[in-house]
Amino acid sequence: MPTLRYGEHTLNVEDGKTVLETLESAGIDYPNSCRAGTCQSCMMRVVTGDVPDDANRGVNESKRELGYFLACVCRPTTDLEVVGTDASTSTAATVVGLRRCPGDVLEIRLRCARPLDFRGGQFVTLVRSDGLARPYSLANPTGATELELHVRHYPNGAMSNWLAQATPGTELELRGPYGECFYVADDLDRPLLLVGTGTGLAPLYAIVQDALAAGHRGPITLLHGARHSAALYHREELATLAANHPNLEVVASALEVEKGDDVDNTPIDTLALARANTADRSNLRVFLCGDPALIRGLRRRLFLAGVPLRAIAADAFVPAASRNSAQ
Ligand SMILES: Cc1cc2nc3c(=O)[nH]c(=O)nc-3n(C[C@H](O)[C@H](O)[C@H](O)COP(=O)(O)OP(=O)(O)OC[C@H]3O[C@@H](n4cnc5c(N)ncnc54)[C@H](O)[C@@H]3O)c2cc1C
Repeated sequence: MPTLRYGEHTLNVEDGKTVLETLESAGIDYPNSCRAGTCQSCMMRVVTGDVPDDANRGVNESKRELGYFLACVCRPTTDLEVVGTDASTSTAATVVGLRRCPGDVLEIRLRCARPLDFRGGQFVTLVRSDGLARPYSLANPTGATELELHVRHYPNGAMSNWLAQATPGTELELRGPYGECFYVADDLDRPLLLVGTGTGLAPLYAIVQDALAAGHRGPITLLHGARHSAALYHREELATLAANHPNLEVVASALEVEKGDDVDNTPIDTLALARANTADRSNLRVFLCGDPALIRGLRRRLFLAGVPLRAIAADAFVPAASRNSAQ
């Protein structure tokens, strides 16, 4: 039976158990959220021993080199000594602003105790003082000093309902940044297609701003969807961006449209496929963010339509596993 060393603890890892489950069985709380190897909230670093390959899938190359892995999917096969994420991935942050937007969306502004080196569209994990952790995408362009998050407020949501009651001065720990969903200025003429529903707009908003700031010349299409048109938020901000950049097209889509509202009621996946079909698919770069089911389906359909998988970056907003959620 492999052993797991963490601080002063030496624990036996039962057959098939993950690092996270082993810590929890010993009464040790470690931040986590999705428990499926997606959200990266439970990132740890191995000091001695080897973690199985699938324990660091999705962790970026440079962090993998440094031994970072995800505790929720790491089933040790050899003895391991691990540590929590170190100070280089963690900083204190303070809420400096909160605005309520349509669609039960909270626009939250945070200031970090030290500058965060991030790319617009990456995500961070917010950790409350009691250890509750949830990932949220950064809606800021690269280099911004104040962070902007778009958080969908679930009245029974452990983190989002707490954030809804935050006031300037509320303190949090912030870990990250994580993720590969960001703009790379490798070809300023390639077409970009960005698709998201609800707060899936947050990373897309950052990516569009980065692309425009880099002088992207190719056509950029941003599709933002919601069930009801009244729940679409940031419409003015997006309209202003589009008015100032002729190569940016913003399309709002909703299944139910308020009378007189300038919103397309074609399903967003149909719109996305139609846009992909008229673009140069061999050079198209796609960003999909938000609803996991939409992303899964659309990624597959875009691939079948001829978009290479490596050209599709996606962040699925996988909810926390039920044991971490408010009951
Ligand atoms: C990589 C990544 C990036 C993310 N970025 C964002 C972001 O930018 N903005 C954002 O708002 N969220 C984002 N999320 C989701 C976020 O991390 C939380 O899952 C979400 O805020 C709910 O957490 P909570 O603690 O409020 O609710 P929980 O306590 O986890 O859930 C309690 C209840 O809330 C409701 N609920 C929670 N999630 C959902 C859901 N997806 N659909 C329907 N009902 C739900 C359910 O009733 C659930 O029982 C992201 C997730 C990932 C993995």
